[in-house]
Amino acid sequence: KILDPKLEAAKGYVDDVFNMVQLRNPNESEFHQAVKEVFDSLIPVLAKHPSYIEHGILERMVEPERVINFQVPWVDDQGKVHVNRGFRVQFNSAIGPYKGGLRFHPSVNASIVKFLGFEQIFKNSLTGQPIGGGKGGSDFDPKGKSDREVMRFTQSFMSELCKHIGPDIDVPAGDIGVGAREIGYMFGQYKKIRGHFEAGVLTGKGFSYGGSLGRKEATGYGTVYFVEEMLKDRGLSFKDKTVVVSGSGNVSIYAIEKATKLGAKVVACSDSSGYIYDTDGINLSTVKRLKEVENKRISEYVKEHPKTQFIEGCSAIWSIPCDIALPCATQNEIDDIAARTLISNGVIAVGEGANMPCTLEAIEIFLENDILFGPAKAVNAGGVAVSALEMAQNSMRLSWTFDEVDQELHQIMKDIYRNSMNAADEYDTPGNLVVGANIAGFKKVADAMISQGVI
Ligand code: GLU
Repeated sequence: KILDPKLEAAKGYVDDVFNMVQLRNPNESEFHQAVKEVFDSLIPVLAKHPSYIEHGILERMVEPERVINFQVPWVDDQGKVHVNRGFRVQFNSAIGPYKGGLRFHPSVNASIVKFLGFEQIFKNSLTGQPIGGGKGGSDFDPKGKSDREVMRFTQSFMSELCKHIGPDIDVPAGDIGVGAREIGYMFGQYKKIRGHFEAGVLTGKGFSYGGSLGRKEATGYGTVYFVEEMLKDRGLSFKDKTVVVSGSGNVSIYAIEKATKLGAKVVACSDSSGYIYDTDGINLSTVKRLKEVENKRISEYVKEHPKTQFIEGCSAIWSIPCDIALPCATQNEIDDIAARTLISNGVIAVGEGANMPCTLEAIEIFLENDILFGPAKAVNAGGVAVSALEMAQNSMRLSWTFDEVDQELHQIMKDIYRNSMNAADEYDTPGNLVVGANIAGFKKVADAMISQGVI
């Protein structure tokens, strides 16, 4: 076997840095998974551009610039004191202030926040907007909490977080468990402590105090815009396709809305207790009301639509036959078994609306079987892209119309698709969007880091 010495050197470097990541971050399997996915794609880039190795780019990229851990004490409606853990990982600021959501969910820990923050570096770079990578959150469980409890918790969370953020420092937004209500309370608390109306410190704000039209819809719409591009390249479209969307939060709802608008029939969606399946297509206005207004479980849907089935448990949603699968719930929701089931049921395209919803094994199976596969950091980048547009509007002290934002989002998603496809072509993996998105996202950040020196 003839070995290319540059390729061997790149492989050796990647292995060394990956081993270091495992040693320095024990028991952080999600973080390791996210790093491995990126590193595997980068070997040909490092072989072609050894300067990335000479500048120690990977070692520097995998170590967050700053990690903030803090206590979040709060008092429930019965007067009992609780303490949750707060996190903010400021991962990389080479191309702009740290930017990324906050997740409130009992599963949040150092590994989850680091995997999300690491992904955010490349996702944000892909958007073409000037934003670095960060992420944060808490193991607080908003489920079953009263509005006042959520307010007290978020105020306590912000009392500490406000010391570390700012419109040109770090700009948080929402993620799982953090929507307009939580952003509103956090913005109020930040403003009160600082004594400044700094609109650009958070994104996903309400429209009346500096939010952007179209931000709520952006991740879901962007997901569908991206998958539409993938389909177009094979002469296909959403029209008359059967779609399964997991989750029923912000990403899912607007992915369902846009896919339906483009002529698809969305037959299932879910929450953490189970999924609903309606062969006639699910009624989105019921889902919207249950989830956005009444804060109820998806199982309530069958009370209003008795012909719909509710099935407990989440993973079986992937056994529903469909043409297009949009996992929009959470990490690792599609494993190798679910991937094989989707393929044997004839799936054509998979687009990751959630962050890292497919395991490494599942991704490999999709690629091996020539399924159109759109990776999260490209597919779901529309949310953070419109967050950057919200920051731009805040800096200019004006508001764009919904259509202006939506058109911009659509163009950004097309550009991400094209740039990722071009990068995949350049490195001899045509059509492989996993490799293409990782390379396109990486290069911009790596080049900025080299320009700025070892700092
Ligand atoms: N949480 C979203 C994401 O995963 C949005 C982040 C943002 O808008 O800053 O990209």
